[in-house]
Amino acid sequence: MKNLIIAIDGPSGAGKGTLARTLATRLGYLHVDTGAMYRSVAWKAAHDGLSLDDEDAVAAMAERAVLEQHGGTVTIDGQDVTRAIRTPEADKAAAAVARLPRVREVLVARQRALGANGNVVMEGRDIGTVVFPTADMKIYLDASAEERARRRSSDTAHTGGQDTLANVQSELVARDKTDSTRAVAPLTLAPDAVYIDTTEMPIEVVVNHVMMLLLDKIEI
Ligand code: C5P
Repeated sequence: MKNLIIAIDGPSGAGKGTLARTLATRLGYLHVDTGAMYRSVAWKAAHDGLSLDDEDAVAAMAERAVLEQHGGTVTIDGQDVTRAIRTPEADKAAAAVARLPRVREVLVARQRALGANGNVVMEGRDIGTVVFPTADMKIYLDASAEERARRRSSDTAHTGGQDTLANVQSELVARDKTDSTRAVAPLTLAPDAVYIDTTEMPIEVVVNHVMMLLLDKIEI
């Protein structure tokens, strides 16, 4: 099998995680959730009392930190943050850290190293545009804000779900705006990405559709 790099981008709640995980399992590829990397760095900055105004200190920490993702568990420097990074506060903190150019530089370099040999499904906001602009397959997943908020509300891995659907939706739309208007590596559709609107598509249909697209790229 060719050592493909598969890039999956799109806003929160579009189904990137499920698609990336399922593809990686089916293909025997490494799955890298880059959002979890930004979330973990944001968590550790708060834990260590680092101010986000001190960009150099946060970037240095991001460079030193041991970031691991195994079977759904996320750790930073050995600390299991799997649940702690999936709260409404963590959503905001991650987006704030992700605006810092030097932190992005560090994490993008780490992401490139993880995918250097291919055999990887990497999900995020800038994978097909910045991290791997020559990825073999670029998918941009989207869905209506209503549907994405509904999915986020029923996501048991994402705690703090006491919020009303309307609140979840407005937070999500606010984060989309931050992510797509920031100066560095904003969320944007790569010209050569396959755009899939998943609003009315069950995830199995999305996975099968992408598997079909991959068929001619994979030597069986
Ligand atoms: O994908 P997830 O919602 O976990 O990402 C959390 C935040 O991390 C995003 O809102 C975005 O600000 C940031 N992020 C990013 N670039 C990526 C992945 C995530 O800026 N490649």
